[in-house]
Amino acid sequence: MPTDSLPLSLKPSIDSAIQQTSTDNKERIISFCKIKKDIIPTDIVSGDHKSAVIQDCNNSQKVGDFHTHPYIEQALGTTPSEQDYYANLNESKIYKVKQVSCIATQQSKYIHCFEPKKIPNQQKINQYSTNDDKFFIENLYKDFKHGWYDKNTFKRVTPKIEEILDDGFGKSKDMIKSSNDIAQIKNSCKNVGGFNANDKKYKDVLIKVCYRNMLS
Ligand SMILES: [Zn+2]
Repeated sequence: MPTDSLPLSLKPSIDSAIQQTSTDNKERIISFCKIKKDIIPTDIVSGDHKSAVIQDCNNSQKVGDFHTHPYIEQALGTTPSEQDYYANLNESKIYKVKQVSCIATQQSKYIHCFEPKKIPNQQKINQYSTNDDKFFIENLYKDFKHGWYDKNTFKRVTPKIEEILDDGFGKSKDMIKSSNDIAQIKNSCKNVGGFNANDKKYKDVLIKVCYRNMLS
């Protein structure tokens, strides 16, 4: 992530979006628009429990977006979905600016942001239109960078492995752990590891620590 902090001009909207989702478990989404030197949020838009539609910035430059994930057992916390990655690539190409996409839940310790390493071509976007988890796990760390930001100061932080896993799983963690379903646990560790890692080494560490925590 190129930026050491998120613009504080976004904080009232981000706080409010998180608050709104905590009342009805529906996603909220905000676009970040660049007007001269300022980053201005759009209005908050409501989606369903799974997704929300990204808004454009009319005549100004869209540079990123924020959305909430509900804190429920059936959803991963701040782990981006396949659709989230696909939408980011698509919009990066459309707006010709690498989009910074951010996610938080009401219980997450941090705001998790990601951006593509470079503006994708159509071929790259087409590859990411698949729903094949394995493709994502093996390619995300090559194509995206991640950053975690303190929810109060909006400054970039370096979370511990356990914190990334906790935020990444959200409320689903206890249910997956207590299922004692080893195949399911291994799969979700691979997903959360693969979908939250900056590089291959870090991905492998996340998965390893996840196995250790979830299978103990
Ligand atoms: Zn999402």
